[in-house]
Amino acid sequence: MRFDIITIFPSLFTPFLKESLIKRALEDGRITVNIHDLRKWTTDPHKTVDDKPFGGGSGMVMKAEPIYKAVTDIRKYSEGKGVKIILFTPRGKKFNQKKAADFAEYRQVIMICGRYEGVDERVAQYIADEKISIGNYVLMGGELPAMIVLETVSRLVPGVVGKKEFLEERKKEEGFVEYPQYTKPESVTIDGVKRRVPKILLSGNHEKIKKWKDKKGKTIK
Ligand code: SAM
Repeated sequence: MRFDIITIFPSLFTPFLKESLIKRALEDGRITVNIHDLRKWTTDPHKTVDDKPFGGGSGMVMKAEPIYKAVTDIRKYSEGKGVKIILFTPRGKKFNQKKAADFAEYRQVIMICGRYEGVDERVAQYIADEKISIGNYVLMGGELPAMIVLETVSRLVPGVVGKKEFLEERKKEEGFVEYPQYTKPESVTIDGVKRRVPKILLSGNHEKIKKWKDKKGKTIK
């Protein structure tokens, strides 16, 4: 699967791609990630990507043209087939596991990271397939949302994390249960009190353990 991220701060992604399972997925060729500096698609000497908003208002707005040119070039890789173009905006649809499973079906996911006071609305209207928000709060840019989507979707790419059966579980329409987890030792002293693993998890009774996990867990959809 191929991810393309359009940003004016490409170096923010450098450490992110050099660690942990994302690094391994890249090395194994399970995913490819291309970070594109939007300024490459500007034509003026100052490499301008933003301008004042029409009608007044505070801050600057990212211009539609460089983004349009960037997306047109980048989507050529998939010859227009199996491409999903995502624009990050706090006004978008909330990102969740179901959306991640949907994105994981595409060959190429292109993500557009906004900055400043946002992006010329024509990008949302005529260029992006989906407007995505990661929550009801306003960040400074779309780079963290892009990392969140990249990580969540990559977990659903075969071979990136865990065994195949876990992958099917994570993609289920009805969702899956995320439950509290414990590891050794059985007893941990915290502020002078011995905090023990719930007995049921040590019982070996798989049926009861499953019921406990369902009760204590939260369904992720
Ligand atoms: N008023 C602007 C808007 O509605 O898009 C807010 C701009 S925000 C300061 C700059 C950029 O950060 C946005 O264009 C978007 O790409 C990203 N962003 C901020 N909060 C976000 C969120 N909750 N979800 C997704 N992207 C977000």
